[in-house]
Amino acid sequence: MASPASPKDYYRHPIHTLKVGSLGTYYALGLAKAHNSVLLFSSTSEVYGDPQVNPQPETYWGHVNPIGPRSVYDEAKRFAEAITIAYHRKHGLRVRIARIFNTYGERMRIDDGRALPNFLTQALQGKPLTVYGDGSQTRSCCYVSDLVEGLYRLLTSDETGPVNLGNPEEVSILELAQKVIEYSGSQSNIVFEPLPTDDPTRRRPDISKATGVLGWRPTVNLEEGIRRVIPYFRERLGLYASSPPASPKVARLD
Ligand code: UDP
Repeated sequence: MASPASPKDYYRHPIHTLKVGSLGTYYALGLAKAHNSVLLFSSTSEVYGDPQVNPQPETYWGHVNPIGPRSVYDEAKRFAEAITIAYHRKHGLRVRIARIFNTYGERMRIDDGRALPNFLTQALQGKPLTVYGDGSQTRSCCYVSDLVEGLYRLLTSDETGPVNLGNPEEVSILELAQKVIEYSGSQSNIVFEPLPTDDPTRRRPDISKATGVLGWRPTVNLEEGIRRVIPYFRERLGLYASSPPASPKVARLD
């Protein structure tokens, strides 16, 4: 989790992204072995690259460009999965591998460059929402409390993984932008900008394993999650004249 996870961040820090995923994981495994600890490794849906199957089950090996701009993240995480499972097989270290799909929530950096923080910031400031490409690419966004519950259940289970953790509610990026405009009551319009290289065309987790093994499934749908984070973004953007509403429920009634 020390790794940058936003494409904007890992484009800016390619070597550090590679080092934290590979060397960082290697050192963490050494420490876990020395202390006979359980190591939870936070992997990513990016190990599937630009997937040729949808939704993606854990058995899918992925479709990754090893020298594309995203490879610094994807390949570091793939190496990290490989060394994590090697420590498990060779040394009997107890490890858990979670493949985390797009996640959002309060306390995100509002300028981390990812789709939801960008769209929320733009919508709340009345600026155009920047959709890359034609917006037909899909993502499936998981609210943070659901993800944390999944990670906790995995860590305290006997399952080595990998286990997909994400919300299977798949939307196109254009739909996502439209929903943000609607739920925030914004007057913003949408502008289209170039699609980044190797941007995955679709992404949706198959969560049968997490449901079967951990009894886990997300409970917060996209509409509820977006409405919950709006007060946080308003506050961070200084859009409240006084203090923010006491709870997201109050904000929703506005
Ligand atoms: N995206 C977009 N506008 C933005 C930021 C992102 O259209 O202002 C698109 C991006 O091209 C990708 C999707 O939204 O198709 C999700 O991007 P994000 O950076 O959130 O994470 P990713 O899933 O690509 O790692």
